[in-house]
Amino acid sequence: MVKMDLRSDIQYIKGVGPARVKLLNRLGIFTVGDLLYYIPFRYEDRGNLKPIYELFKSGNPGFTTIQGKITSARVVVTPRQRKKIFEAVIGDGTGVITAKWFNQPFLKDVIRNGSTVVLSGHVKPDYHGGILMEGPEFEVTGPEDNELIHTGRIVPVYHVTNGLSQKVLRLIVKGVLESCSMPEILSAEILSRYALPPVNEAINDIHFPPEGTPVDILNSGQTAAHRRLAFEEFFLLETGLAMKKGAVVKETGIAFNVHGRLTETLYAQLPYSLTSSQQKAISEIKGDMALPHPMNRLLQGDVGCGKTVVALSAMLVAAENGYQSVMMAPTGILAEQHYRNIRNYLRDLDIPAALLTGSIKHGEKNAILDDIRNGSVRIIVGTHALIEEGVKFNRLGLAVIDEQHKFGVLQRAALKDKGYAPDVLIMTATPIPRTLALTVYGDLDLSVINELPPGRSPVQTRWLYGNSRKDAYYIMQDELKKGRQAYVVYPLVEESEKMDLKCAVEMAEKLRMAFKGFSTGLLHGRMKNPEKDNIMKGFKNNEIQILVSTTVVEVGIDVPNATVMVIEHAERFGLSQLHQLRGRVGRGDGRSYCLLLTDGFVSEEGRRRLAAMERTSDGFEIAEEDLSLRGPGEFFGTRQAGIPELKVANILRNAELLGNARMEAFDIVSKDPLLLRTDHKLLRNAIEHKWKDKLILC
Ligand code: ADP
Ligand code: MG
Repeated sequence: MVKMDLRSDIQYIKGVGPARVKLLNRLGIFTVGDLLYYIPFRYEDRGNLKPIYELFKSGNPGFTTIQGKITSARVVVTPRQRKKIFEAVIGDGTGVITAKWFNQPFLKDVIRNGSTVVLSGHVKPDYHGGILMEGPEFEVTGPEDNELIHTGRIVPVYHVTNGLSQKVLRLIVKGVLESCSMPEILSAEILSRYALPPVNEAINDIHFPPEGTPVDILNSGQTAAHRRLAFEEFFLLETGLAMKKGAVVKETGIAFNVHGRLTETLYAQLPYSLTSSQQKAISEIKGDMALPHPMNRLLQGDVGCGKTVVALSAMLVAAENGYQSVMMAPTGILAEQHYRNIRNYLRDLDIPAALLTGSIKHGEKNAILDDIRNGSVRIIVGTHALIEEGVKFNRLGLAVIDEQHKFGVLQRAALKDKGYAPDVLIMTATPIPRTLALTVYGDLDLSVINELPPGRSPVQTRWLYGNSRKDAYYIMQDELKKGRQAYVVYPLVEESEKMDLKCAVEMAEKLRMAFKGFSTGLLHGRMKNPEKDNIMKGFKNNEIQILVSTTVVEVGIDVPNATVMVIEHAERFGLSQLHQLRGRVGRGDGRSYCLLLTDGFVSEEGRRRLAAMERTSDGFEIAEEDLSLRGPGEFFGTRQAGIPELKVANILRNAELLGNARMEAFDIVSKDPLLLRTDHKLLRNAIEHKWKDKLILC
């Protein structure tokens, strides 16, 4: 047999031919390592199977596994609906149970009279005084299966695919476990410090748990084996991040003089005083800017907490040092808004600024590009797209990246490719639970603004459905009469874009009729930019009082006079989105309302989202809830953000392990930045292999 290691192609595994290679590939398994780290999603205790008689006695035994022989099997057709049901009776000598599978008549060729099967499912009484399982998971076992792989023990259950059975996969894994030994990348100290088993033991136990392991602990992923592999996964991730961070820190950057007077002059002119978390963020940023290495910092804070003035402070430091800075926004409208705000802040400071978006006319654009190239403009605000496309800077010192509530891939690399090495400040309005920040943005330094400017009263949030919907219009009416403005947001989902657009247009029309005397504007994604801009300006200047909009990003505007946010089909929005939308009101001194409307059925998860909105307006609490509802992958779209998917570890469940793994990883990298020591060789190999395409290590 060919000697295999973790990176060997699965085709070298005994019993794996081209057909099985394809099937395994479908599960994301390409190498021996992928296979060994293909973790069962569930376990069944087939060492202690319940006799059927006991199930019969015990009324409602819940999810159960039994084993027995098929004593009869047939396909029946229901008389009225003409549905095909495959029905089998299974006996184990103590009793019998019926199993039914709907619309799978082909099972008659798989589950035959006389064969031995293992069934797992919920047991319920049938109409004839017996017991029944509907659509149980099944496995046909045979006389050759007495080698304690598929039964007579705790058995792993994997996600499989058509053509690849549990049994086959189990046999393949078992074979590899017996012939392969894994390198240990964790040091003996780490293993003992966190009471983690060695890698070979962990991998063995996670596939074929030792007798006596409680199945509920296995199923909740809390065995020592699970912890070990979760730790390892975090550790590899954090080591990669630590190296990435270390590499940036070492690069030569600009050591700005941060003791100029310009920011003080700005603060003296503000109609408000900075909150203490704004001040703290500013001093952290200045601290970074003073160092001769590039800043790589994330500024995190809820919508409306005042990130702009913090970012502007950094831009002023750059300007005072003779450098340019750029602020990149995800959309033209947001770029314009930043620009307007910044211009307003710069009113009495003599700093030339320019705006660069897609709607700027050609000739004008060329003039602006010239000014940027020759250095006569110090502060540039524009869209990500435009700036990445190829603006030539004269002396770029700082890039501020506003990701709004989207997670993009950090554009630092793109700027660096063009020969710039600016300090980078990323702003995000998605509050990230700390544990998550450590993985997703683990190579960045973090500043958090965790308070809103004083005087803001929390937005009154209400979920209105059925008849109480009309309350939304009463509230709107009241506010409009007081001279306030309202947003009405309509969801637009891709699958039904046309329909939704039609609904939004109709809604705008309806509101126009219902609120005569006020002006209604409609904003949707299909509109051309100049058209959009006109509507936005109209709303901003209070020429339009009711803004009906189909998109979320496009209402990312600052209109303090708006006090009502009505969200139609609120159940269709994610929690973070709802929270972002709510952040559009409550920006002025008046009391504000967020009214969540739903018609008809709302799923359990939908109800939890809406209830969370009513319960809290704390962005961090919202984020935690969102995370627990959707799981980390969905929450971040991590694949898109370039963060490797976690296979074993769970960021919520294993938060403490993550903290420890991070500490150990950063400690190792601080002592041996490139992992050149011989005792780090296996670790370095693993890192290079694991993250080769995903994290740019230097
Ligand atoms: P965001 O964090 O969402 O970007 P902005 O920077 O747009 O928030 O600020 C929201 C509003 O709060 C702006 O109108 C801004 O002028 C105001 N603001 C910012 N900081 C303070 C403060 N310390 N006190 C009062 N108002 C503030
Ligand atoms: Mg903002």
